This record gives sequence, structure tokens and C-alpha cells, in this order.
Amino acid sequence: MHAGKWISASILVALGTQPVAPEALAHQAHVHGLATIQVAVAGDKLAITLNTPLDNLLGFESAPANASQRRAVDAMVARLRRSETVAVPSAGAGCVAGPVRLNAPVLAGTSGHDTPSGNAPPANEEHANMEAAYVFTCARPEALREIEVRLFGELPRLKRIDVQIAGPRGQASQRLTTKNRLVRL
Ligand SMILES: [Zn+2]
Repeated sequence: MHAGKWISASILVALGTQPVAPEALAHQAHVHGLATIQVAVAGDKLAITLNTPLDNLLGFESAPANASQRRAVDAMVARLRRSETVAVPSAGAGCVAGPVRLNAPVLAGTSGHDTPSGNAPPANEEHANMEAAYVFTCARPEALREIEVRLFGELPRLKRIDVQIAGPRGQASQRLTTKNRLVRL
């Protein structure tokens, strides 16, 4: 999970944007049903970083122990790698997704963890997170008004997403639920 935090911060730095609240990034509470999304807009780049307990995605938070759990991991990873199943920016902004980065140390050695070897899964941890980082390049960033988050329908365990936004119009936080799925920029 430490590697994941580093990735988040590095994206914000890459975009020339300071995090909204460094202390909030340093440690996100691990609460089943809750996830966080950080949104950063700078120039023509839009970065979206999802951090969620694995339970919201899989219903378990350990390395897959059998073929059924391995299939569940692969299906979840395939879904997260398609940005359009996670977050869709305003169509008018012409945003194109770059490579997706997934970090879930407990899934090291599976398709669910991109960080190079050397990050062994933490031993004897009861809980584990997944971080998924997306960077879009937008042809018309001035038309970026909202982001539709599409996770709720596919993830019935997920009840709430706390969103932190840093962009040209300043910083803000929003709360998404199954009934309110739009991040407004
Ligand atoms: Zn947990």
C-alpha cells in the first residue's frame, strides 16, 4: 500500500498539482463499502486515482487461494483496466485514456499488481486495498465539466466514494453514492 500512495502522489506531482490535503493522502481509512477517488486536472491532463478496499471489488482481501478466486481477480482486473467501466469524463472534452496502473500488493504475482518485483505482499494483514490510477489526455480540457463514475452498478458492496478534486478552479471535495454518480468539476 505504501507503493500505491507513492504512485498517487507522483501523478499529482507530474501534473504540477499539489494534493488537496497531504494528511488525507497519507492514510485513508480502510472501511468496507467506502472508496476514495482523487481527481487532478492540469493543462490537458486529467488524473483519476481510485483507492478502495479489495473487499469492495472481490469480496475477499487476500491472495487468491483457488481457481475461483483467481478468476475473480482476473475479471476484476480486466474491468479496472477498461477506464470506461470506471470513470467517463465529459464527452465534449475529448479525453483519451493512457495506460492504467493497478497496485494491490496483496495480489503481487497476479494480474492485479503492476509494481515491479521486490514488493512482497505484506504478511498477516487482515485488510488490503487496490489502487487504480488513470491518466487521460484531453483535446478540449475547457469542456471538462464532469466525470461519470460507473463503479456502483458493477460493485454492489460499494456504497460511497469520497472524492477530492484539485484543478484550475481550485480544490473541492464531493461525496458520491449509488444515487449521485457525477463528479462535478
Ligand atoms: Zn478490509
